[in-house]
Amino acid sequence: MPLRPARMRLTGWGRYRQGVSLVVRPEKLSELKEVLDAGHRPILARGLGRSYGDAALNDGGIVVDLTRLNRILSFDRQSGKLCCEAGVTFADLLESFLPRGFFPPVIPGTKFVTLGGALAADIHGKNHHRDSSFSAHVDSFRLLTACGEIKQCSRSEHSELFWATVGGMGLTGIIIDLEFRLRPIDSAYLREEIRPLDSLENTVKMLDLLERDYEFSVAWIDCASFGPKFGRSVAMFANFATRAEVEKAGIRLPLDVHRTRPLTIPFDFPTGAINDFTVRAFNEAYYNLHRRRTQPRFVHVESFFFPLDRLGNWNRLYGRRGLLQYQCALPNRDGQRAVIEILEQLARSRVASSLAVLKKLGRQEGMLTFPVPGYTLAMDFPARDASLKLFEQLDEIVLRYGGRIYLAKDASMSPESFRRMYPDFNAWLNVKKQVDPLGSFSSQLSRRLGIDAALAS
Ligand SMILES: Cc1cc2nc3c(=O)[nH]c(=O)nc-3n(C[C@H](O)[C@H](O)[C@H](O)COP(=O)(O)OP(=O)(O)OC[C@H]3O[C@@H](n4cnc5c(N)ncnc54)[C@H](O)[C@@H]3O)c2cc1C
Repeated sequence: MPLRPARMRLTGWGRYRQGVSLVVRPEKLSELKEVLDAGHRPILARGLGRSYGDAALNDGGIVVDLTRLNRILSFDRQSGKLCCEAGVTFADLLESFLPRGFFPPVIPGTKFVTLGGALAADIHGKNHHRDSSFSAHVDSFRLLTACGEIKQCSRSEHSELFWATVGGMGLTGIIIDLEFRLRPIDSAYLREEIRPLDSLENTVKMLDLLERDYEFSVAWIDCASFGPKFGRSVAMFANFATRAEVEKAGIRLPLDVHRTRPLTIPFDFPTGAINDFTVRAFNEAYYNLHRRRTQPRFVHVESFFFPLDRLGNWNRLYGRRGLLQYQCALPNRDGQRAVIEILEQLARSRVASSLAVLKKLGRQEGMLTFPVPGYTLAMDFPARDASLKLFEQLDEIVLRYGGRIYLAKDASMSPESFRRMYPDFNAWLNVKKQVDPLGSFSSQLSRRLGIDAALAS
């Protein structure tokens, strides 16, 4: 191997799944190609490791850390078109482009995600109901395939490979660089409105009712207080504010970057620190704090989009056993009923979710991409047997309603559920067979879900 690999134990963000791999960190395309040419397999790209489960893990194989391939290659101010390497992060984009009045078209709930990771998971944001997922804004990318060839992929060139790679979780090759469009903004602030709601039914209704009026919407749901408080929520709606609006409100630097250094947790909290009691207390406090904030206010993008980033490695709060996130997408038809049924099952099981959010989803293209027009519900849990047992029950409900689990968050789905949830898997597998017939690109996720076995059969 040309670059000296380091043997490392890696985890997903949830720290529940882990694997030992040889990790290389190429800095140039030539080094990346040398890694592939060296012939060691299985191989997998990794960004900042923000996928929760085992999507970025490759126990016993090679992990190619892309974070040093992080150069911005070109930017056209007129069109907002940006070309950059896959290791560039959303944090880098904000730092460079927010002061110039440009913003990513889709942004996840943390800015510590690489663009390669964002495309491989085809991430969605709080604006999916309007603007779809990240791939909808990507014009093209270059992919390094298993035989060492570089393919330029777009909707017109190698289009099947384009659609198999977005949401393909790194299994078709390594995204080297990509071209996509930033959107112009007038200020780095959003005008946010908060609606406290007393029931889940009202929350879903409100998200439906206001989807045309607001570009960004999300509802935090209290899934820890059982009884009459169960399912109450705080729904947040926002649009970008104009420069004139924020200046009128006394904000003197409408396009400033907020560089607050995140607090870090220096050690793992004891297992059990996040328990029913602490979660219930947090939910009560959160609801009461936001219940009174009903006046519209201006919030900086950092506060609106990345509240969790204020606490650097907050995943350590869950202790050594880690956390699990259950995120499902539920199609519009009966979607409301499905969300309610899932939360009713949660209430029956008495497993408290420490954080639960509901979003609306809009149109979507792709083969293994997660969103379907409807709703997405994401819930965090301490990694415990009771949580995993609950997930099995929830998978049944999600399947019954024609929904699916997000591969970037998953740590427990069965191969059978995966095949039923992703009906375009066979089309995807045909593309994989063409570009990577020997299964050089593989992950713990692909092995657990039977993807590698399907390729070999
Ligand atoms: C706090 C938090 C909030 C989040 N909020 C959202 C959200 O709102 N919406 C959303 O959609 N997701 C969200 N996520 C999930 C996150 O956006 C995805 O898991 C994303 O893929 C992580 O990117 P990464 O750079 O950390 O990649 P990793 O986690 O390292 O890798 C993720 C996948 O991408 C592949 N990959 C990475 N780089 C490349 C590359 N260059 N070429 C090919 N494949 C590659 C890996 O093989 C792996 O399969 C959130 C995660 C966290 C921790």
